[in-house]
Amino acid sequence: MAYFADDPVRFFVDNSLFVHHMPIEQQQALQLEAVGQRFGAMRDAIVPLAVLADAAGVREIGRLEDVAALMFPHQLFKSYSYRLFDELGFPALTEWLSRLTLVDLAAVKGRRFGAIGRWLDALDAETGLALLTSSGTTEALSLIPRGKRESELLRQRSLVEWQSPGAPAPVRAIDHRASMLWLSYADGRSGMLRSAAMLRENYTTPTTRFLPLLPMRASTDWQHYIGRVMAAERLGVPPPRLTPYIQARQEEAVAAQASYDERIRAVLEIVRDELQDAPVHMAGGPLLLHQVATAGLRIGMAPGLPPGSRISTGGGTKGLAAPDGMIGAIKRFGGVDTIYEAYGMTEIGDAFGSCEQGCFHIWPWIVPLVFVEGSGALLPRRGRQAGRAGFFDLTAQTYWGGVVTADLVTVSWGRCPCGRTTPQVVGPIARAASGPGAAGPAGPSRAATAAALEALNRGLV
Ligand SMILES: [Zn+2]
Repeated sequence: MAYFADDPVRFFVDNSLFVHHMPIEQQQALQLEAVGQRFGAMRDAIVPLAVLADAAGVREIGRLEDVAALMFPHQLFKSYSYRLFDELGFPALTEWLSRLTLVDLAAVKGRRFGAIGRWLDALDAETGLALLTSSGTTEALSLIPRGKRESELLRQRSLVEWQSPGAPAPVRAIDHRASMLWLSYADGRSGMLRSAAMLRENYTTPTTRFLPLLPMRASTDWQHYIGRVMAAERLGVPPPRLTPYIQARQEEAVAAQASYDERIRAVLEIVRDELQDAPVHMAGGPLLLHQVATAGLRIGMAPGLPPGSRISTGGGTKGLAAPDGMIGAIKRFGGVDTIYEAYGMTEIGDAFGSCEQGCFHIWPWIVPLVFVEGSGALLPRRGRQAGRAGFFDLTAQTYWGGVVTADLVTVSWGRCPCGRTTPQVVGPIARAASGPGAAGPAGPSRAATAAALEALNRGLV
């Protein structure tokens, strides 16, 4: 199996190759070899992949473009019957997952659980899966079958500072003196909160701290329940039953929300009184960064973070208007000139960091594909192309890494003005329309996509 995609840290660090400065032809040759190996290992084991490959007549990957017909729509990860969660149908849900992963789920197969959280606990404790759920509040949870192996390699990648913005420097380790101020729940099963666990492991040492804004685990059962209430409202039907377990999770969530301002004050006091000797890495969505910065500035913390600190963000304002002076206030509080921004999604392991030109650079182990919104045809993989974004994450070793996202983007394959050679997502990122009238699938045909979803869910509804 390809060394390059199996373990990019070993490949790039050991070879002293600069991740973002490899000639694009060389990147694509490595990608083609890796994608062929992934396809060979998974073709017959991943149920919907076999259906797509048969439908498109793909027997082997001769060109990177061949993978377009094998991409999973992002909706595939929530194509299970939602009733299965309402009815605690975990044997069927485990079977559904097993059709998407090479990881052996025998330890959990056939077993019943009293709550989604209990099922996830068992998968975590007794199998090689580190299942991810979607982060946002949507009507249905996506279930991304990431393995512990991929999660651990991702954690190791997060320990490496691949390229400082502004300097085409070789790889170097992150600042291990830094503490982490994380503006979210401490823990959870969404992609974002799994990354919190990863950061907690990286940043918690005898001399540093991981400081979350909400020091508890986010409840997946509660997140699912909220989604079902939203769906019931849309359909004009009664909301699902509130079980005593979910009611208890609801009370915890309400209490956490009510304590927000108090918790912000407490966290700021810890930063001011205990964390001024070494840099602090503060990360969170822009609106929360602004809320914390404003609270800090109000009590005279300007700057509130020690020298050398860093602020990073991602995810945008989720359709809400940015408050006036938001960026200025965050920078003033942090005492920083730059706010690092990243673009990512749960289905793909690594987020893409932005360069000095504001472009999000795509890692060499992730293959971007852009599709015409509407027809679903693949656009040429050169120049600058706008359309529906698809990515193939070559580091996925236990599940199929190709997914067409809900995002409308522009990708440039040309060398960025910053000097880096990796392709970039440039300009604004929009969310594709969903629901009635939305565009058809991109990559595989409508018929092939329907057949793949049918095979994945066969006998489980
Ligand atoms: Zn750039």
